[in-house]
Amino acid sequence: IATKLPKVGTTIFSVMSQLALQHKAVNLGQGFPDFEPPQGLRDALTRAMNEGRNQYAPMHGTAALREQIVLKTERLYGRHLDVDTDITLTSGATEAIFAAIAATVRTGEEVIVFDPAYDCYEPAIELQGARAVHIPLTVPAFAIDWQRVRDAVTPKTRMIMINTPHNPSGAVLSADDLEELAAIVRDTGIVVLADEVYEHIVYDGAQHESVLRHPELAERSIVVSSFGKTYHCTGWKVGYAVAPAALSAEFRKVHQYLTFCTFHPAQVAFAEFMASDPQHYLELPAFYQAKRDRFRALLASSRFKLLDVPGGYFQLVDYSAIRDEDDLAFSKWLVEHGGVAAIPLTPFYERAPGTRLLRLCFAKSDATMEAAAERLCRL
Ligand code: PMP
Ligand code: GLN
Repeated sequence: IATKLPKVGTTIFSVMSQLALQHKAVNLGQGFPDFEPPQGLRDALTRAMNEGRNQYAPMHGTAALREQIVLKTERLYGRHLDVDTDITLTSGATEAIFAAIAATVRTGEEVIVFDPAYDCYEPAIELQGARAVHIPLTVPAFAIDWQRVRDAVTPKTRMIMINTPHNPSGAVLSADDLEELAAIVRDTGIVVLADEVYEHIVYDGAQHESVLRHPELAERSIVVSSFGKTYHCTGWKVGYAVAPAALSAEFRKVHQYLTFCTFHPAQVAFAEFMASDPQHYLELPAFYQAKRDRFRALLASSRFKLLDVPGGYFQLVDYSAIRDEDDLAFSKWLVEHGGVAAIPLTPFYERAPGTRLLRLCFAKSDATMEAAAERLCRL
């Protein structure tokens, strides 16, 4: 069969989770918590199912959940959203990203992405007959070189995708970065797709610089978030996209035929839980900062060099003191002989820079972190 996606194989997340199972390794690869969502949220989900909320939800999401998102966005980012037009609930951020690209990017156009780039971006771009233009982030800070962005913009550029806090590096964009971006897209037809799934996970007192704080950027952006990250339930696959009315209308044209709507009981549960516990996402930075700091302390005596983690729930480590081989080979060796599954960075690059870095997920219980660290410190 003539494949439409010749560069795509099985995603590294499935590959590493499978290897972790096969070798009985501690799985710090694919990013998901190994602890449960809040009890109140699980109870609300059960209730929603028992109370008959089991049929299709409204196409763009339940009113109650959209209202909670309006409240949250106003509280955190000072932006008032229109509850009817600006918010669409999706089956995870993954659907939102695909729908956003499919709704706005045409054949022959270009989308600027920053490498390492989360792996679902490029296939979605290619399926539109468009081309991803890759700009490497600077190492080791994983910052954007804005001059390179200015140089990469052409009349064909339809979209620039940003991801803050960034997966896999944890780097966060600053208010100055958003100003640079705004200056580049001003007076163009470029749409910004802001992947902000780790919006609530920023450390050391920093504030998340959402595109939604920036009125000019917000007017031309689709901002994507994920309840899976915020409420420890990646398997429920609920996310959302925020965009101004005209962009949302285009987004919904795709969403209504891609999935039509997303899991109804979970929407009922999130709306109820957000109303009853408006503190949850405010407490996430401290919750994950304790995990980050614990994990880093556990690895302090290892031969891994730990990079800074300003946001997200991944730790990048430099393994060059342990073995001199590329990250695909090292992650395979580590899962087979070291008993820990990690994620190599090469799959997130167009041209891998040959860095000796691996990604470890610390959204884990103390016991899991300790078991992994014990193995990692032996190497
Ligand atoms: N973007 C990034 C940067 C992610 O890390 C993830 C998931 N880990 C997603 C999008 C997809 O989110 P979801 O699971 O809600 O589809
Ligand atoms: N986003 C998760 C990660 O970065 C993985 C999600 C998936 O497996 N598709 O690890």
